[in-house]
Amino acid sequence: MIDDKSQGIEINCPICKEKHQYSLKVSKSHVIHNMFNGMDTSTKYIRVRRVFICPKEKKEFQATLKLPQHFGEMIEDVKVNNDQQREH
Ligand SMILES: [Zn+2]
Repeated sequence: MIDDKSQGIEINCPICKEKHQYSLKVSKSHVIHNMFNGMDTSTKYIRVRRVFICPKEKKEFQATLKLPQHFGEMIEDVKVNNDQQREH
């Protein structure tokens, strides 16, 4: 089972030095809890590097995101919705 959830994120833009809002689509799968027997059940943070587009300068930049991965879930994929930025 995979959940696709959109979440907003604020990035400090290295190009224009302002903050921009982006929408991330995070795909998570749910892991059967039995697989975690004897393992740490705390929230882990995973790092992903993605390309963002500065809406002011129309230039791409890379930023590293830190996303929480809770007990019982596995982050499969993270997509940046750069298109949505232009609609707002
Ligand atoms: Zn910018």
